[in-house]
Amino acid sequence: MATKKDYYEILGVDRNASEDEIKKAYRKLAKKYHPDLNPGDKEAEAKFKEVNEAYEVLSDKEKRRKYDQFGHAAFDPSGFGGGGFGDFSGFGGFGDIGDIFETFFGDGFGFTTFSSRRKSGPVRGKDIKHELEITFEEAAFGAEKEISVTRNEECPNCKGTGAKDGSGVETCKTCGGTGEVRHVQSTPLGRIVNVRTCESCHGEGTIIKNPCSSCLGRGIVRKTRKITINIPAGVDNGSILTLRGEGEPGEKGGPKGDLYVYLRVRPHKIFRREGFDIFCEVPISFVKAALGGKITVPTLEGEEDYILEEGTQTGTTFKLKGKGIKNLKRSGRGDLYFTVKVEVPKKLNEKQKELLRQFADASGENVVDFGKSFFGRMKDAFGK
Ligand SMILES: [Zn+2]
Ligand SMILES: [Zn+2]
Repeated sequence: MATKKDYYEILGVDRNASEDEIKKAYRKLAKKYHPDLNPGDKEAEAKFKEVNEAYEVLSDKEKRRKYDQFGHAAFDPSGFGGGGFGDFSGFGGFGDIGDIFETFFGDGFGFTTFSSRRKSGPVRGKDIKHELEITFEEAAFGAEKEISVTRNEECPNCKGTGAKDGSGVETCKTCGGTGEVRHVQSTPLGRIVNVRTCESCHGEGTIIKNPCSSCLGRGIVRKTRKITINIPAGVDNGSILTLRGEGEPGEKGGPKGDLYVYLRVRPHKIFRREGFDIFCEVPISFVKAALGGKITVPTLEGEEDYILEEGTQTGTTFKLKGKGIKNLKRSGRGDLYFTVKVEVPKKLNEKQKELLRQFADASGENVVDFGKSFFGRMKDAFGK
C-alpha cells in the first residue's frame, strides 16, 4: 500500500484545530469532491474518500487521540491486533454515514450515500495454534521435535494469483474495476446513492479469466507440513513457543500469521516440578535412618550416592544444588530436593524380631507384650 497522507493535511487544518474548524474544513472539501457533483471523476472520488476517512477519525475524540499518538498504525488491522475501528473506506457503514450526512447534507444538500463495501487492503494471515505433548525430560533438557501442521499456503501452481498459467486477470466489466456498484435513486427527500459491493468480482475489481486448476482460482491450497521445532531447555507445562510467519498466508500482500505451539508436559514418575526446582521422595530403611550411611538418590541424569547422617528423621528434606531444571531466562539450573521417608518393614522373620526385642530391651523399652493379642494387652491395661 502507498504511504497514507496525514489526516490533518488532507483536511488542510492545523494539528491543534478545534472540532469546529475540522467540521468546517470537512464540509467544504466533501462538497467539492462529492462524486455526485463530479460524475466519472476518479480523482475526485479518491479525494472524497480520503476526506471522509480523515474526518471520520479527526471528528471522533477517541480516534483522534489514537491517531495523534500512533498515526495511521492506530487503525491498521495488521499492526494493532485486529481492527477495532472497522472499515475506513470512507463509507464505513450505515451508522457513520447517517451521522455525517445528516449533519451536513441532510436538508440543504439533498442526497444521502449508503455503502456496504469493505476496503480490501493487505490483511495479515491468521495465527495457528498447535498443542504438543512432551516428556518431563524433554522440557528439562530441551529437544528437537517435528510437528505436522495443516494450513493454507499460496498455491504453487499459480503463485497465489488464482489464474491458470499466465492467463492473468482482467478488470471487472460490471464495476469497471472499482469493486463497487452505485445505484442512484430519486426520492422526494432527495437523491439517494447506494454503493454496494460488486457481485461479479466480490469487490475485488478484477476477474480471473481461467482459474488455476489446483486451487480453483482461490490462490491458496491446503497443505500439511512437517515443521521442526527446537524446544529450549527449561520450558514448562503451558509454555508457548512462537514460530513467526509459520501461520496462514496473508491476503493481498499482507504478512503471514504466526504458529503458536502450546506445550503440555507429561508428569514424571518420580519428580514433581516447581519453577526450575524439582522434588522427590526417597524411601530409606529404618536401619539406614538410625545408623546413617550411603543411599541412592534419583536425579535427572541418573542415580547418585548420598551419605546420610546417623539418626536421620523421616520427612527430612535435603538439597542437591544445581540438579534441577535449566533456567529458561538466566543461566544455571534449579535445585533438586529429596525428602527421605523411613519405611517400617512389614514382614520380619523370627531372627529379625528377636534382634529387635533385644534392641528394645537395650533401650529400656518394655516389649514383653509384643507377642500377646490386642485383647490380651487390653486386659493387662485394665489390670485383669
Ligand atoms: Zn466488479
Ligand atoms: Zn492456483
